[in-house]
Amino acid sequence: MWQGMRALQPPCPLPGLTVLHADGIVTAMGANTTAGYCRFNETGEIEYLFVGPAYRRKGVATWLLECVAQQTGRPLVFREPISPMGRRLVDSYTARAAQPFWTPTREAALAALGEFLPNAGRAYAARRNTDYGPDDRSNVSRLSPFIRRRLITEEEVARAVLDRHGFAAAEKFIQEVCWRTYWKGWLEQRPHVYAAYLADVERLSRRLAAEPQIAARVQAAADGATGIDCFDAWAKELTATGWLHNHARMWFASIWIFTLELPWQLGADMFERCLLDADPASNTLSWRWVAGLQTLGKHYVARAENIREHTNGRFDPRGLLNEAAEPLPDDGALARPAVPLPSPDAIHGARVALLLNDDDLHPESLCAGLPIAGVAVLESGEAGSTGKRAFLEGARADALARATAAFNAPSAGVLSPAHVSAWARDLDADVVVAPHAPVGPAARALAQVSPTPARLLRPWDARAWPHARAGFFRFRQHIPDLLDR
Ligand SMILES: Cc1cc2nc3c(=O)[nH]c(=O)nc-3n(C[C@H](O)[C@H](O)[C@H](O)COP(=O)(O)OP(=O)(O)OC[C@H]3O[C@@H](n4cnc5c(N)ncnc54)[C@H](O)[C@@H]3O)c2cc1C
Repeated sequence: MWQGMRALQPPCPLPGLTVLHADGIVTAMGANTTAGYCRFNETGEIEYLFVGPAYRRKGVATWLLECVAQQTGRPLVFREPISPMGRRLVDSYTARAAQPFWTPTREAALAALGEFLPNAGRAYAARRNTDYGPDDRSNVSRLSPFIRRRLITEEEVARAVLDRHGFAAAEKFIQEVCWRTYWKGWLEQRPHVYAAYLADVERLSRRLAAEPQIAARVQAAADGATGIDCFDAWAKELTATGWLHNHARMWFASIWIFTLELPWQLGADMFERCLLDADPASNTLSWRWVAGLQTLGKHYVARAENIREHTNGRFDPRGLLNEAAEPLPDDGALARPAVPLPSPDAIHGARVALLLNDDDLHPESLCAGLPIAGVAVLESGEAGSTGKRAFLEGARADALARATAAFNAPSAGVLSPAHVSAWARDLDADVVVAPHAPVGPAARALAQVSPTPARLLRPWDARAWPHARAGFFRFRQHIPDLLDR
């Protein structure tokens, strides 16, 4: 167990440091000298910590503690007596460890990426499919809430993993990152698919109001009260944490559609309201894919044996699932013609009012060089659970704080579409500029802003989306080119 944990190493705070593990002691080595060491026991109790004077106040002590925490897999306990300097370290370490993983900031996103980076190569490809449960998420990155809002971009995540592991070892992880790009590009060209889904959710919600028996079945599924223990556990995990492992999402959707025989649109709606990473493209199209509507005739059937194997034996729903289900009948959505992709606008003017939106909260990389006179975020009206809303609002605040500092421009906070033109007037702006918002709530809100803002399109999207016309297999052949620039 301890041996296996050693592959997981927290990011090193200083170049040139290496870590040595021996039973009960972790040592940080500089070029020719010991930078520090930490003695501990299997219960996670820290017995002694020493950092050489030349290495103090540089994050080495915290790094040693993180290495011990990962090696033991336990919360750390600090043995008394603790010196005043030690007390400050203990307090700051404890405060950091208590922070929720999905703190909605770019800083937290970068820290999460740094922590996962060592595992994003071959280890990810080998282990990603297993849902070990809420207490062990070491095999997947959990970056999706950050990437969804572009607190961190797909491109920088893919490049960091590529630089660390090389293409052959990083390929699987990069492909997964590119699924999001692919789904977005696909839906961008078929917005009617999302519009039809929204209309279905409305229609079905009205039907539930009139048919209490179906409403009770949907409610039991959402509450995790179906009697299928794996499904019930995932429903509760989803509402408690706002996140599920990818394989659990596939099983959940499949059981919802084929075993519980509930409308897929209502399951997708539950995901969209609860997930911190709720994404119109990834969510709607993944549910359609499970149902057999996205790749016609091919559906995803959750099998008890597969669940037993890939939950590490935590669940074994033998005899409870409909494993002989047929795909749902074609709804005709794929036959409708595609619409053209958006193109970027030329930006003119000496004073730019920058209107951010919930789909792209990293303006530093998108708007460098623009003469930005003021910044705001557009209220999209995106609904959801308290946790989802809190993450979104925190992410907006973080983006505004970063943009204010990066562009030395005042923030007007979050504006509804009706208030944008007055804000731009007050700023004496020549033009309102907004990152392109792909299909979803932010795009709907942006469409209400008058006059229409000039559009910024990320080069990553502009290069990738034209390849998202058919299936992912064709799309993924272009990934090396996408990263080549
Ligand atoms: C029914 C269903 C609904 C889903 N709904 C959403 C959703 O609303 N929002 C969302 O972000 N993802 C959704 N996914 C995709 C996927 O489950 C999550 O992106 C992934 O589980 C996030 O965990 P992670 O960050 O640890 O992923 P990792 O395995 O660490 O992958 C790294 C990154 O790649 C991207 N990624 C990985 N798998 C997928 C995928 N299948 N599709 C798109 N992007 C992917 C994510 O940005 C992820 O953060 C859904 C999948 C299914 C089957």
